[in-house]
Amino acid sequence: MKYISTRGNAPELSFEEAMLTGLARDGGLYVPETIPTMSTEQIADLAGKSYEDIAFEIMRPFVGQAFSDDEFRGIIARAYEGFRHDARAPLVQLAPNHFLLELFHGPTLAFKDFAMQLIGQLFQFSLARQNERVTIVGATSGDTGSAAIEAFRGLSNVDVFILFPHGRVSDIQRKQMTTPEDSNVHALAMDGDFDDCQAALKDMFNDFEFRDGVKLAGVNSINWARVLAQVVYYFSSAVSLGAPHRKVSFTVPTGNFGDIFAGYIAKKMGLPIEKLVIATNQNDILHRAMENGAYTKEGVTPSISPSMDIQVSSNFERALFDAYGRDGNAVAQLMDELKDGSFTISQGAMEVLRENFTSGRASEDETMQTISSEFANCGEVLCPHSAVGVKVANENLNEIPMITLATAHPAKFPDAVEQAVAHRPDLPPHMADMMDKPERVTRVPNDLGHLMALIKERIA
Ligand SMILES: *Cc1c(COP(=O)(O)O)cnc(C)c1O
Repeated sequence: MKYISTRGNAPELSFEEAMLTGLARDGGLYVPETIPTMSTEQIADLAGKSYEDIAFEIMRPFVGQAFSDDEFRGIIARAYEGFRHDARAPLVQLAPNHFLLELFHGPTLAFKDFAMQLIGQLFQFSLARQNERVTIVGATSGDTGSAAIEAFRGLSNVDVFILFPHGRVSDIQRKQMTTPEDSNVHALAMDGDFDDCQAALKDMFNDFEFRDGVKLAGVNSINWARVLAQVVYYFSSAVSLGAPHRKVSFTVPTGNFGDIFAGYIAKKMGLPIEKLVIATNQNDILHRAMENGAYTKEGVTPSISPSMDIQVSSNFERALFDAYGRDGNAVAQLMDELKDGSFTISQGAMEVLRENFTSGRASEDETMQTISSEFANCGEVLCPHSAVGVKVANENLNEIPMITLATAHPAKFPDAVEQAVAHRPDLPPHMADMMDKPERVTRVPNDLGHLMALIKERIA
């Protein structure tokens, strides 16, 4: 299996190379050259299997020769053993035809653990075999950083630096990043918003001298291996509701478009998905783009669902690549135009996007009301991100079962949840003492030179 760049101008890589690299050298994102498909029988055979066995079946064709079957099974087993629910991704019912996929039973209580725990094990295996050491730098709106730190802390062949926007993550998210004591963990609080953090990260990747000098590796949602890990729960949940004999739809609270893009891959692989619904908060660039074809940056307005406070949605580039008939030059041109703040999606590409995706948005008030009403109606306490999803899903219900992805545990966002349901959600017992632990964090300016110097100094 070969991986190619969405901008058509970078070397083709194997799965392992694409995983260890992250961003392509032409600024693009790696995607598989072809998407392997599963027959109806193969999908039907997933019924009744464990999450780990389904993960093996779904991901195996994408991984190529990188690992033996036994090695890959071992990697998957280690990735998910720390989850606190046997099903890993359990479904609960909200209404007759509406289900919630709880993706928050991993070590940091957000869906990012599904991909990050796997990537941690994959990196460890590959780097140990090659006797290599890498520097992982990640930008986070909150949950990626904690998930990455949890997955990589204490590993001997990795330093992990996490850039987060100072003052714009929740107390719990910050504590999760700043309280681990491992010396290979470096939490950096940057003056700016998430898009500034993400831009600094991209600039580091585009500085080849720095990139090669520190052996930079990326684990942001641009990393293909992360998208791949997320494809698995689309299959496991759909099959438990009767796929492939019955269609399902999904609603996905979306920021960087990684999670919902995984759903699109599941559909391309043959999973009968009727609709993929993009749910945004008030930072709604994706919803606006789906409505009128104009992808236009506006400033980020901080919300109660901070992990979706994003205006440049990196993985959308992968969807555009397909919508433009896999024309890397066309994508490169759009991304160039975006430097000036916007681009217009061609009519042909919009048609392809609308065949696969619909969209909706939730305001802050609607999000709060959804947390209250779902608690009153069925006793489920939603985090604000999941509530954005449920609100938009409720507008798209029909005879086909709808699965809404619950992306974080409510206790990660206790202030909003407490306001909506009149009690404070408790952290699970294993995290109860985190709020009292001392923090270790470095405040940094939004200045590329400063950041790169700091990273070089820390790993020296
Ligand atoms: C990251 C995150 C999202 C957005 O996921 P994308 O893959 O970036 O679209 C939604 N909810 C939570 C809780 C998150 O951490």
